[in-house]
Amino acid sequence: MEIIKNYINGELVEAANGQSFDNYNPANGEVYSQIPDSTSKDIQQAVDAASDAFPAWSKTSRKERSDLMLKVADLIDANHDRLAAAESKDNGKPIKLASRVDIPRASANFRFFATAILHESTEAHQSDQDAINMTLRSPIGVVGCISPWNLPLYLFTWKIAPAIATGNTVVAKPSEITPMTAFLLSELCIEAGLPAGVLNIVHGTGPNAGQAISEHPEIKAISFTGGTETGKRIAATAAPMFKKLSLELGGKNPNIIFADCDFEEALKTSVHSSFANQGQICLCGSRIFVERSIYDKFKDAFVARVDKLVVGDPASEGSNLGAVVSKPHMEKVLGFIDLAKKEGGTILTGGNQVHLDGDLAKGYYVAPTVIEGLSHDCQTNQQEIFGPVVTITPFDSEEDVLAMANSTEYGLSATVWTSNLHKANRVSSELKAGIVWVNCWLFRDLRTPFGGVKKSGVGREGGWDVLNFFTEKKNVCIKL
Ligand code: NAD
Repeated sequence: MEIIKNYINGELVEAANGQSFDNYNPANGEVYSQIPDSTSKDIQQAVDAASDAFPAWSKTSRKERSDLMLKVADLIDANHDRLAAAESKDNGKPIKLASRVDIPRASANFRFFATAILHESTEAHQSDQDAINMTLRSPIGVVGCISPWNLPLYLFTWKIAPAIATGNTVVAKPSEITPMTAFLLSELCIEAGLPAGVLNIVHGTGPNAGQAISEHPEIKAISFTGGTETGKRIAATAAPMFKKLSLELGGKNPNIIFADCDFEEALKTSVHSSFANQGQICLCGSRIFVERSIYDKFKDAFVARVDKLVVGDPASEGSNLGAVVSKPHMEKVLGFIDLAKKEGGTILTGGNQVHLDGDLAKGYYVAPTVIEGLSHDCQTNQQEIFGPVVTITPFDSEEDVLAMANSTEYGLSATVWTSNLHKANRVSSELKAGIVWVNCWLFRDLRTPFGGVKKSGVGREGGWDVLNFFTEKKNVCIKL
């Protein structure tokens, strides 16, 4: 049994109450490690350590912070295989996805922000009243980072790296469903020589450890990625305390395919954008809209490709889909498939749990599922499923598809397939989403603003946006 520990004040420690709970391997349904069941007492210890570390850390030179962060990035790369295997085992994702995406992106996050701080500048405004204004930016203090289970180390480091790069000290909590790589990161931070208290990683449940972060008066800002309901709860707790909040929440993203698209490219990428990571990426295109003149051709080709996807052992290079993250999540996804049938949907492929043999017989596997015949405003097309389930719907005009695409409470991302640049521009500007991909999906440039509108969140991560989030601006006006 592997034992996960908290990382507080530079040391690996058990929860203060000595309690822990089970961590499951989704591939076989077995408990394989223990997670500290931290409470407000552990969060208090982490806040104390972060507060003590803040004065010195916030005064280190950019070069010093950058060098330390680059060391962490190098160690992530040096431990690539071990981290990828751990991520795949903890989350159920195919090892090839963890190897090619999750772990390289974790070191890229550290590298990107370690070097960004060497190149930033601040503004100056020359006034008509014979004065000059300069904008200074300072770290906030102790900040909280809370992340979800779908891209565990990738999203955890996406928050931590800019927070410490800008001179803050951090109390961070990974998802209790996938805590392993955050624990391994704490070992790497110790090895890299990150000063004690700069980064504190506290494991535990949302209601205990997470809520204690939202409530703590000394934590001045919270960067959260997770579900919309949790975001609402965090905002309700933290907003009256005037904490800075960055909330990256759920999505129900449209994937719009016009008849004049590059058919093969749209087809290939749509299979990927529907089912990568078992459809558990907030940016997956779960509502596919296809222009009626190519609807049948696209639908048949799409279903044929989906039928070829292999659901299998996450540790096997041959698996296209692994296990979904947990038993409750599998039941939720299967419940949505039942709901879709009740709402009149036709299952074109999938629609069932997949039972693998031998050691994997108790794992949480769901067949990639394509559903047609649903109205755009039914529950299946309005609620986030966050699993390997997509709907496919024909449309007749731009106006028609925009009304359907924009009809949900969410507005995270959208994908548009067309070879007509005017149409691409028109549709992109009318889509209510924080990110639009035209003729591609999930091309990520870390300099770009990342986030959603409506119930998909508040604020933007990435590039200068997140460096602004983790700093306070102060204008100094000097009379000349
Ligand atoms: P979740 O909201 O259940 O949990 C996210 C994190 O919040 C976990 O660490 C959890 O322990 C913590 N938490 C739960 N209750 C809390 C509370 N009261 N106070 C503080 N923290 C609390 O989300 P999840 O199920 O882990 O992740 C799936 C969701 O995340 C989906 O809705 C998905 O769309 C969203 N997501 C969004 C993005 C984005 O960038 N917008 C990226 C990935 C995932």
